[in-house]
Amino acid sequence: MSNNLAIDINQLSKCYRNHKQALDNINLKVHAGDFFGLIGPNGAGKTTLISILTSLARKDDGAIKIFGIDLDQHPTKAKQMIGVVPQEINFQTFETPWQIILTQAGYYGIKQKEAAPWAEELLHKMHLWHKKDMQARTLSGGMKRRLMIARALVNKPRLLFLDEPTAGVDIEIRRSMWDLMREINKKQNTTIVLTTHYLEEAENLCNHIAVINDGKIIQSTSTKELLKTTLSQNYILDTETKQTAPIEINGDLDLQWLDAQTCLLKLHEHQTIHDAVAILQQHNIKVLSLKNETNRLEQVIHELISNKQEGS
Ligand code: ADP
Repeated sequence: MSNNLAIDINQLSKCYRNHKQALDNINLKVHAGDFFGLIGPNGAGKTTLISILTSLARKDDGAIKIFGIDLDQHPTKAKQMIGVVPQEINFQTFETPWQIILTQAGYYGIKQKEAAPWAEELLHKMHLWHKKDMQARTLSGGMKRRLMIARALVNKPRLLFLDEPTAGVDIEIRRSMWDLMREINKKQNTTIVLTTHYLEEAENLCNHIAVINDGKIIQSTSTKELLKTTLSQNYILDTETKQTAPIEINGDLDLQWLDAQTCLLKLHEHQTIHDAVAILQQHNIKVLSLKNETNRLEQVIHELISNKQEGS
């Protein structure tokens, strides 16, 4: 039974009327309880994928199950398990947070009386209770975003989509929103699928990441594994010896001299920095200091996408 999968996508394709193949035979699984990141450059197909999953766009081909429920066969049942926080603020700004949340509850057929205690709890959680009767247009940018999240949680969804939730939000609010998202994921056991341009955000929040490019999933794995998949690790070495002429190094070292005393070392997968320093020592090159150019997610994604493009 695939109920331990929050999302199970098989051979999903979508071609827009302008013949743009936005999604090309996508297979993707998201486990229940995951904090899952969907990342890729502009135009990769992220919004199209989320729009199809949340029934805002139609697919051409393929099958989608949400917690084991087929989206084609039981759309209402599947939709009841889903909450969405779109990129753009899209509530009625002349309404109050209280009205906005209760109206949303109404869309799910939840009666006001039933919805009120949870709406109150949500507004407290989002630190918006003191604003509940103010017009939403008077809220700050961060508050509006938190209101969008509160609204998306009104039906207690098991699966929450966050499309660029912190775009344009300043760094302090972003960090407090990260705490909030972690809490929703962990304490409420809500599976979260997040799209983001901020790779730091994906690295901090997501335990799994799928990289999408040109309508195809080119990698889907744990964040830890993804960070390990970088093909090389780069170090900047400061050496004692001044090189007056290019030197031949025996051994499998990928070394590029940046100036007479500084070089860029690219470790291969099988090498350790210890091995590399030992080889240099054998050539009378003493390493004074080294700086690791860390394997940031940004670098990994960049390598993945450019390797794919070179290979295709
Ligand atoms: P992302 O969210 O990753 O930036 P999108 O899903 O928005 O990517 O777009 C994927 C591709 O589909 C892009 O080439 C985009 O131009 C195209 N596209 C998106 N929406 C439409 C549409 N409504 N009509 C035609 N083409 C579209």
